[in-house]
Amino acid sequence: MSTKSEDEVVIVGAGLVGTVLAMYLAQQNHRVVVYEGRSDPRNGPPPSGRSINLTLADRGWKALRELGIAGEIRKRSLPLLGRMIHDESGNLHHQPYTEKGDALYAISRFSLNLELLEQASQSPNIELVFDHRCIEVDVERRTLLFERTDKGGAPVEVSSQVAFAADGAYSGARRSLLRAPGFQFFQKYSFLQYKELSIAAPPMGGWPLDESLLHVWPRGDHLLVAFPNLGGSMTCSIFLPTHGDPSFESINTPSDLRAFFERTCKDLLPLMPNLEYDYFARAPSSLVTTRCAPWVHGGWLALIGDAAHAMVPFLGQGANAGLEDCSVLAAALRRGGGWAAVLAEFERRRRDNCDTLTGLAERHYMELAERARDPNFVVEKALEQKIYRMAPDRFIPLYNMISFRDTSYVEVDRRARRQQGLIAELMKIPGIEEIWNTPEVEREIRRLLADFQPVVNRSLAGAPLVELAEP
Ligand SMILES: Cc1cc2nc3c(=O)[nH]c(=O)nc-3n(C[C@H](O)[C@H](O)[C@H](O)COP(=O)(O)OP(=O)(O)OC[C@H]3O[C@@H](n4cnc5c(N)ncnc54)[C@H](O)[C@@H]3O)c2cc1C
Repeated sequence: MSTKSEDEVVIVGAGLVGTVLAMYLAQQNHRVVVYEGRSDPRNGPPPSGRSINLTLADRGWKALRELGIAGEIRKRSLPLLGRMIHDESGNLHHQPYTEKGDALYAISRFSLNLELLEQASQSPNIELVFDHRCIEVDVERRTLLFERTDKGGAPVEVSSQVAFAADGAYSGARRSLLRAPGFQFFQKYSFLQYKELSIAAPPMGGWPLDESLLHVWPRGDHLLVAFPNLGGSMTCSIFLPTHGDPSFESINTPSDLRAFFERTCKDLLPLMPNLEYDYFARAPSSLVTTRCAPWVHGGWLALIGDAAHAMVPFLGQGANAGLEDCSVLAAALRRGGGWAAVLAEFERRRRDNCDTLTGLAERHYMELAERARDPNFVVEKALEQKIYRMAPDRFIPLYNMISFRDTSYVEVDRRARRQQGLIAELMKIPGIEEIWNTPEVEREIRRLLADFQPVVNRSLAGAPLVELAEP
């Protein structure tokens, strides 16, 4: 069977990016058909154990605000004002994200996806087609082939004016491009895998741990992170190596599991009545980094979101970057010039940035899990915050540039390396751990900062947050 939709835009994948992109295009009066491989998740129960928790940062909120749906999403999220580091001795270290109270927002990916589908389905310009998995794209003929995942039967061929592959890290649409001459594809599996474990809501109400913080147990070669959920429970992601000790391979029995928790994060044990079930019921999931080029094929098909740039989750940016992709594409479309020009501009603005981000995300694991345990790290962070206070327009910590501004990722990387060099110079001062907050060090900071230029990109933190008011 074949369907001709030459005046329509086809999007493969109704995940976070596919639905947001559909809404942006519909706002500009394009007819959009979104084909999703799964059944409609609004009709079934939430997936057990794979309800990944995300943090939405300002780049993601910017897109949701532009679509006028930030208020609805906000109702499904909880603000996080910083991190709580749980060290190996059971001590707690509070690290606010910024002094002025900037927040990330915790939300379940499933819940976010449901709300986005609900919002997209309200547009007369958007048709959502479920149970259609893309198995082939033909760039020359401008067609996509879908298999029916519910009924079976002959695949459905669809032609379109323009097409987007928003079908995630393991994109089916991208798979057929692997045979296209000149298509470059890089994929790297992380040495870590993850599982999601539940932390029960206390019977008396509230949350078991401070719900305004992201809780982190940094342990070098492994890491645990806990996010609050609406309703008082929390979700703990455990990131462990696939092989070695400890690893998902080495923790095989309930007693292994208990011994591991006793050793590395004892404070969590009483909060996890279902630990054994959660841990043993499911296989661990993989984490993958991908980069590819080109993103645009035949001026007709563009890769977007995780299909173009999957990354490890340690900077909390995969979805945020994917939503920023949509915002950049919509701005290019508003400028006009025809689809081929719009897609080319989109790739020009985004590919280097997102490739850079995938590398930053890998490196950030070291900061989160390894360096956070180093006593020098505490001094470096104190210096970083001090310099930020002294020159807030010229020295902005990497995490703040990523999460609370829209500075391009390439520029973030360039500045972060330079800033790290400045900190490294200060760390050479004898006794810096004692004298970091003295006028003498301040004089040195001023000298080293002399040729740092202001960051020109906007801070998004100042953008209207009216829609983000408490629900
Ligand atoms: C553990 C973990 C934690 C994370 N934490 C964060 C975070 O804190 N902040 C953040 O910003 N990001 C985070 N991410 C990343 C984020 O989940 C992804 O970047 C985001 O979901 C990408 O959106 P997407 O729409 O591109 O892809 P997806 O969300 O994967 O959606 C793709 C859609 O396409 C469908 N599909 C797949 N193949 C086909 C096919 N062949 N045909 C049709 N449909 C298909 C899928 O069913 C799905 O609905 C995290 C990821 C993980 C794994």
